[in-house]
Amino acid sequence: MRDRSLDPGAKNEFHRRETSLRITVTWAVALVKYMKTLNVAPLGKLLLAGILIGWTFGFAAPAQAAPKKVLVVTVTKGFRHSSIPTAERVLAELAKESGAFTVDYARVEPNDPEFKGADGKRDNAKVDAAIKAVLAEKMSAAALKKYDAVIFANTTGDLPLPDNQAFLDWIKSGKGFVGMHSATDTFPGFPGYTEMIGGHFKTHAAQLEVQPINQDPQCPICAHFGKDWKVFDEIYQIKDFDPAKVHGLLTLDRKPDVRDPSPGIYPIAWCKEYGKGRVFYTSLGHREDVWDPAWPDRKNPKEVAEAYQKHILAGIRWALGLEKMNAKPQKAAVE
Ligand SMILES: [Zn+2]
Repeated sequence: MRDRSLDPGAKNEFHRRETSLRITVTWAVALVKYMKTLNVAPLGKLLLAGILIGWTFGFAAPAQAAPKKVLVVTVTKGFRHSSIPTAERVLAELAKESGAFTVDYARVEPNDPEFKGADGKRDNAKVDAAIKAVLAEKMSAAALKKYDAVIFANTTGDLPLPDNQAFLDWIKSGKGFVGMHSATDTFPGFPGYTEMIGGHFKTHAAQLEVQPINQDPQCPICAHFGKDWKVFDEIYQIKDFDPAKVHGLLTLDRKPDVRDPSPGIYPIAWCKEYGKGRVFYTSLGHREDVWDPAWPDRKNPKEVAEAYQKHILAGIRWALGLEKMNAKPQKAAVE
């Protein structure tokens, strides 16, 4: 994860700077030649040169793009993954290391002392009220305007958004949506969300090692996986999924179930256009050691987590419009 030398975004940025520097130098040389031909007093020449050079540099200097703003949502109304604090931390680290975006959170940790009732036990009414309040604050139509993308990192259940349709319309207007793992186990009662993300959680068998088929080895989200990449995780089986409506990234051709590995289509990661917006989903990310190369108690080598971080960072960058790639479905719709 520390090696950014192969990052195509960084390479493009370098190329942009180099080009604009060349333009600036060319301008400066032309300017000096031009000044020599002018019949103006030396002080006047100096002033004019100052103004022109200032304008030239202002025009040609590379615009340092401000980091994009991302809202990370980790609230849960169903099962709560123990990997959520790890996911929150890793996303903050990726934001900082890449410099591409900053993170804000819509988070409620149900075990925080503030949610204890008089009997010392968790007061679920207090937790629910806090979830409602944080989503009302950060995900209203007005609040969403300040973000460029939203990440659902292991959210579950029917979340009390202030305005479901406003959320979808916000993505369609040209924003980004990224979902990890149980993002597809979110909003069972909101078909518009399932249509947006591209599928819904059906079930999962016991955790197992899988070797996903890399459907787009050229794209930045998958380029680093190579042919033999394997991961040990809880692998979802997805329903309400249509391969003709997404750009497939990782998939399996057998059911991810050691007791019944029967042939079929079992998608793992995909991306898609949604109106003018961009949606990236990966079902990986149940386990802490998939998110974090430094997690102590592990079944995955640290390289698996490093590859996962590259996978999600490229997905986030693409969703933010910072990365170009083909997101059209590989498979034509069968009418
Ligand atoms: Zn899980």
